[in-house]
Amino acid sequence: GTQQKLEANVLLLGAENVGKSALTVRFLTRRFIGEYGNMESIYSRSDRIDGREISFNIWDSLHPQKSDADVCISEKQLQWADGFILVYSICDRASFNLVRRQVQCIRQGKAKVPGATPIVIVGNKRDLKHRRTVSSEEATLLALSSDCGFFEISVAETYHGVLLVFHELLDLIREARTTK
Ligand code: GDP
Ligand code: MG
Repeated sequence: GTQQKLEANVLLLGAENVGKSALTVRFLTRRFIGEYGNMESIYSRSDRIDGREISFNIWDSLHPQKSDADVCISEKQLQWADGFILVYSICDRASFNLVRRQVQCIRQGKAKVPGATPIVIVGNKRDLKHRRTVSSEEATLLALSSDCGFFEISVAETYHGVLLVFHELLDLIREARTTK
């Protein structure tokens, strides 16, 4: 059939150095290049998923600065986004704490999609097991208690996990739109 093209605005959030840009570039190009600049940018990728054309707009945001006020996501970002990917590193406890606060911020804020704003939490750098400081269990608990998707992945090692993250978010976005 001739289904309408679906636009999905995806906002990537998280601390510095957790792999937000690596995740974005992996999704766009399937490659991992190792070093990424510190630029804020919106990228687009079109896909055909389940026979339907999907246009992803991905905002690779800059991590919040030191002050607490910036932990909260700007009104502009909340309004723009259809869904959120919150990234932390499994070897960076502070980055997990930030994700916890960002989940609260999104759940309390006036997002574009009222009620069940789609969020997927990503624990990145799974390849660095020996340096792990955030357990899968506590992240799973956060995801369950705040109604978010959750994946532990290694952007460095595989493209597959990255694809799962975006597909899960897309499912949540579709769900949110049909129940609106
Ligand atoms: P951002 O500040 O959140 O955008 O983080 P970057 O995407 O710039 O990545 C920060 C650093 O972590 C870079 O040196 C990446 O190569 C590295 N990195 C990203 N993902 C992984 C991963 O899955 N495993 C490992 N070992 N390093 C990663
Ligand atoms: Mg970056």
